[in-house]
Amino acid sequence: MRYPANEIESKWQKYWEENKVYKTDFNSTENKLYCLVMFIYPSGAKLHCGHWYNYGPTDTWARFKKLKGYNVFEPMGYDAFGLPAENYAIKTGIHPQDSTMKNIDDIRTQLKRIGCMYDWNAELMTCVPEYYKWNQWLFLELYKKGLAYRKNAPVNWCPNDQTVLANEQVQADGTCERCGAVVIQKNLTQWFFKITDYAEELLSGLDTINWPEKTKLMQRNWIGKSTGAEISFKIDGSNREIKVFTTRPDTLFGATYMVLAPEHSLVDEITTDEFKSAISDYRDSIKSMTEIDRTSTIKEKTGVNTGAFAINPVNGKKIPVWIADYVLTTYGTGAIMAVPGQDERDWEFAEKFNLPIVRTVQPPADFNGKAYTEDGPAINSDFLNGLYVEDAKKKIIEWLEEKGIGKKKVNYRLRDWLISRQRYWGTPIPIIHCPQCGEVPVEEKALPVKLPYEVEFKPAGESPLTTNKDFINVNCPKCGSDAKRDPDTMDTFVDSSWYYFRYLNPHIDNQPFDNTLAEKWIPVDMYVGGAEHATMHLLYARFIHKFLRDIGYASSDEPFQNLIHQGTITNQGAKMSKSKGNVVNPDEFTKEYGSDVFRLYLMFMGPYEQGGDWSDKGIAGTDRFVQRTYDLFSRLSETVKNENPADKYDIDKLSAEEKSLYKKVNESLNKYEEEINNFRFNTAIAALMELLNEVNKNIEKCSPEIQKFVLNRFAVMLAPVAPHLGEECWQLAGNTETLFENPVWYTVDEKALIKETVNIAIQVNGKLRDTIQAAANSDQEFVKSLLLKSDKVTKHIEGKTIVKEIFVKNKIYNIVVK
Ligand SMILES: [Zn+2]
Ligand SMILES: [Zn+2]
Repeated sequence: MRYPANEIESKWQKYWEENKVYKTDFNSTENKLYCLVMFIYPSGAKLHCGHWYNYGPTDTWARFKKLKGYNVFEPMGYDAFGLPAENYAIKTGIHPQDSTMKNIDDIRTQLKRIGCMYDWNAELMTCVPEYYKWNQWLFLELYKKGLAYRKNAPVNWCPNDQTVLANEQVQADGTCERCGAVVIQKNLTQWFFKITDYAEELLSGLDTINWPEKTKLMQRNWIGKSTGAEISFKIDGSNREIKVFTTRPDTLFGATYMVLAPEHSLVDEITTDEFKSAISDYRDSIKSMTEIDRTSTIKEKTGVNTGAFAINPVNGKKIPVWIADYVLTTYGTGAIMAVPGQDERDWEFAEKFNLPIVRTVQPPADFNGKAYTEDGPAINSDFLNGLYVEDAKKKIIEWLEEKGIGKKKVNYRLRDWLISRQRYWGTPIPIIHCPQCGEVPVEEKALPVKLPYEVEFKPAGESPLTTNKDFINVNCPKCGSDAKRDPDTMDTFVDSSWYYFRYLNPHIDNQPFDNTLAEKWIPVDMYVGGAEHATMHLLYARFIHKFLRDIGYASSDEPFQNLIHQGTITNQGAKMSKSKGNVVNPDEFTKEYGSDVFRLYLMFMGPYEQGGDWSDKGIAGTDRFVQRTYDLFSRLSETVKNENPADKYDIDKLSAEEKSLYKKVNESLNKYEEEINNFRFNTAIAALMELLNEVNKNIEKCSPEIQKFVLNRFAVMLAPVAPHLGEECWQLAGNTETLFENPVWYTVDEKALIKETVNIAIQVNGKLRDTIQAAANSDQEFVKSLLLKSDKVTKHIEGKTIVKEIFVKNKIYNIVVK
């Protein structure tokens, strides 16, 4: 009989749900395990392969832990605010709230069909006041500490989405992370969260968490710590100073000119009349350039002289002050001292504009490049001469500090997190702007500031919330005058920066989350999701976690102790996309084969962290494994039902077939455990497939007691990777309690793992050439790898063509050559 997948899967899903099998007991914290996947973004109504690949295998890991006796908490929710729903509304006229709620209903149904152990009591969504009220609370807490502030700054603007973007949302090629449009720069007043206050801790904390090295490296580079000095240069003929940050203060004698960012506040003041119009033209010409374009190393250097001079404090020389687009106001102080002898960009600029170049580090004799950026003894540097870079740095910093013209300084590349968006579908910012009092925070008791339903979505460069007069016009809470609400909404990454706390009790209404439970259940033990979040969500969440700790809401330092990124599923080698027409629709295959087969196949495809390539043939092969497994349990069900096997057997008292299966099932268990524990699902499933072959060969020659011993272990290993089938087989083997209600795991009989060895005769054209010792039951491939190491054998096959190989397990390997 064909395994009736759909029928059996709905049966178990119904049973699990009705019996609340996956409701977490939060009071028992012994062996607690918080297993989390990145929550779903309900912009479409359908789960795709990527979702399945994130959720299914992670649930398998969690189920394995559950069977091992862990108290597992596995929640699911919806990251429900965001641009796609709003853009969809602009296109179709369907309100984002209506489309989002509908999508969530459809997605929930699909999620249930995967058959994960989600605790549905913990389900949450971010687009309801019950949740976003606490984003507003978080904003106000940050505001109180001076960590939420508003400033006018050049920001990234997406002309297509008509909103600003955080730096993290601009891709390496200068395009919008959401829509791919080229991002431009605009000066706007925006809200920021001061993530830079945590730069040092965000860096050092990386050493305490078990994350993929690549992700940690991306965060380290994004934070970009560098140590150097801040130095003041007097402007000639003025009492003004230009401050610069440099990582190479040792090259100060080689500073032959200075460059200010075109937007630097001193530019207007110091520019001489002669250069005013050139400066103004230049500023116009770079207005729409992105930071990425401006700092591109391949772009030809441009710049304009201001006519002003600064004094190099170390030698009193007058050096010209220029402006150039490659200097940014947002990095360091917005000004640099240019040292063309030791900096490639400065060299290029100096060459183009005929500015002096002085080497201050002696390059090796065979060096024939331009700027020399490596280590070497200082030259042309008076009291630094002869010192290597590190020592020269120390000495010049001492000198600068002594003279009061500079000091040691650490600089970070990380900028503050820009969180305001000129869009509708997000959390309103809880601030009122009063003409008398200025910025007035909404009082906590007046939260939530509810997002109104009635608005005009069409983007017009300012927030759609300005179109709802009832929302926007308000009386100032301080003085009562006519005032206006802040019309912007928060970046949705605010919503996801703390959601893992809220899952513990998503309906609590007098605090953001249940901190008694958080004390016991946070940090998250295992977090699984896409690597694309490395410098966004995964950085923001760490920042907010540390902030919540500092205001007494958490005691741990990090939100996610372990992190794994799933790989990507491709189809015929290509990324799945609608335009290529190669999207695999999970529904189609789960309908045909059941969700267990679909999950099994995804896991079997390749190493989890790399992903794999889809094949219709592949899933059919996985289905055959499921069919044969079900057939095995159905066939033996009657025989084994009432057996009561022991935990262990004395191997020597078993028959040859029993002994062989007993060993095999213990070996499989041993391997399976090691593999699943490390998210190596493909090899764990391969071990099960191999076990099935052995079982089918020999099981009927074993006593019913040993048969049940083997089947019980098989069912238990099946349950994490194919949960519905696992429960079904467990029952067929005569077990009356269900596995996930009453978790069972078996310990390996170590004695059964001891390998016996056998002697294998190696023949070439029928003549015995060598005898090789190998572990019993070694397969052909392994024996061949051994015999290829024997000179006695290889000298008879070298230079000849192998026409045939005959392998008799544990006995003979015969090679026929011509
Ligand atoms: Zn965009
Ligand atoms: Zn007021």
